[in-house]
Amino acid sequence: MVYMMGIASKFVGLLLSGAGAVILTYGMSKEGDWMLYVVGLFVMSLGLSLLTARRQPTEIHPPPPTVTEIHCDNSECDFREIRDFQRGDYVLKKLPAKCPRCGRPLTIHAIYVTREQAPSTAAS
Ligand SMILES: [Zn+2]
Repeated sequence: MVYMMGIASKFVGLLLSGAGAVILTYGMSKEGDWMLYVVGLFVMSLGLSLLTARRQPTEIHPPPPTVTEIHCDNSECDFREIRDFQRGDYVLKKLPAKCPRCGRPLTIHAIYVTREQAPSTAAS
């Protein structure tokens, strides 16, 4: 789809720069017709910019997985949970949820980006 659009923009660019060149030469041949000259110049530069435009990076990377690390407020309870990052999460935010082990409040201790599954070349 994006590839097709790239081809289309190239085609339109070619068309525009060609048409611009025609208008330009027509404007130049007709003395004093600066409007055509300007329009031709404009259309041609538009077409050329389309032609030379860098192709946008086609693949859109999904945002890297971000996780939220939750700790229990109770220092004697070592309950920890790592869940997907949710909008509004911030470090040291008190969570409305209670610790499933001791019932104390839970606090976000860390938010970090996890690397995507490393290729299984580690086992060497
Ligand atoms: Zn706890």
